[in-house]
Amino acid sequence: MKKYLLLALTLFFVQNSFAQNDNFNATLWTQVSAEFRALTLQTYKNATKNLESALKDKNWSAEISQREGFEDLTPCVILDIDETVLDNSNYQGQLVLDNSSYATKTWDKWIKMAKATEVKGALNFVKEAKEMGITVFYLTNRKCIERDDLACPQELETIKNLETLGFPKVKKEEILLRYEREEWGSEKISRRQEIAKDYRVLMLFGDDLGDFIPEVKKKITFEQRFELVENFNDYWGEKWFILPNPTYGSWLGILGKNKSEFLKGYKTNSEMEQSSDEKN
Ligand SMILES: [Mg+2]
Repeated sequence: MKKYLLLALTLFFVQNSFAQNDNFNATLWTQVSAEFRALTLQTYKNATKNLESALKDKNWSAEISQREGFEDLTPCVILDIDETVLDNSNYQGQLVLDNSSYATKTWDKWIKMAKATEVKGALNFVKEAKEMGITVFYLTNRKCIERDDLACPQELETIKNLETLGFPKVKKEEILLRYEREEWGSEKISRRQEIAKDYRVLMLFGDDLGDFIPEVKKKITFEQRFELVENFNDYWGEKWFILPNPTYGSWLGILGKNKSEFLKGYKTNSEMEQSSDEKN
């Protein structure tokens, strides 16, 4: 009898710890909600519709640092990978199940498995762009870490993951990882500028503000980020396409350790104190 009681208690606590894990609902949403699928499909579909006009208009560039002399360059699109093209919710889900959090070691193991799924809509978009003669660049903060006697096995594994899902062949120069060159840090602007030397950038895709605008990942308030979004109002849905990611990202990183301080309700502080007194 005691044994069953213990088992029931253990199960209760294990289930409770999942439910209390910060990322439970957010991860579940990305795995089971039809709404998430509809959102990503909607985003890629709208982008596809815009491809032709972007291609025709030689003054069109989605890269803000690309200001002149780009009119006759080869057209390209730039896509982030994680949570933009590849869905890593099974990695996130495992973290919730293990009641653990992101670590370089487990993330690297996940990359090696090459089992991320497609963010719905991405594959069709990439195929469509390629058919129109547009070069597709993948710009990812997946990091090159030496392993298995290779300087950057993560690049090969990511290509393998993409090609297994049916993405058209990815050349090594079309995928730019973090620290593939020493100067390529987590800020993506230097890699975008490298691409912009030889290509006219038609569109950017990402799940993080940092996939579009530099210096938005630290030493910035969420209000300043709101302002930036509004400043670039003309870009969203035309040249820039953002995918939803409620599970992680710089939106969360900038809040620091005391994120609960940012959650707003409708009661004043004194009303909150009063209701907590009433509870006690
Ligand atoms: Mg991403």
